[in-house]
Amino acid sequence: MNIGRIIKQTRKNKKLTLRGLEQVSGVSYSQISKIERNENKPSDQTIYKLFTALGLDTSLWQNTERHSNKETDIQSYTRFLVLSRDNFTCQLCGHKAPDIQLEISFIVSPNNGGTFIGENLITLCSECNLGRKNFIKKHGIKNDVLYINNNNR
Ligand SMILES: [Zn+2]
Repeated sequence: MNIGRIIKQTRKNKKLTLRGLEQVSGVSYSQISKIERNENKPSDQTIYKLFTALGLDTSLWQNTERHSNKETDIQSYTRFLVLSRDNFTCQLCGHKAPDIQLEISFIVSPNNGGTFIGENLITLCSECNLGRKNFIKKHGIKNDVLYINNNNR
């Protein structure tokens, strides 16, 4: 897991400077800077402080990691950024964590030339993801609602 990239990306998304994050998290800006460059392996307590200050849910992160399924080759930080972008909400049914379990799915699977980058990834709840996979098995990827939307963009 590349924790440095997650923290840096989220900090920039929130338009926070290192000093700004220092103020809200209580972690010194020089340490944050080292963590972001992966020169310093932060303790669990420091991660907790930074995640809380950035509005990131540490328990959700761990749950998502533990329950990851076939899409396990998606890197942890990418998975997390996709969850953040999708506001921890299933993009099909609109349910949110922690009521349901979220998964990251490919819009176009790697077997069909899909990539591992954010624009080909989407947050789905486990039920929608399973339903979608069964649908694709039965009707083919060409009829998949996400695949069609992606092509129409
Ligand atoms: Zn759903």
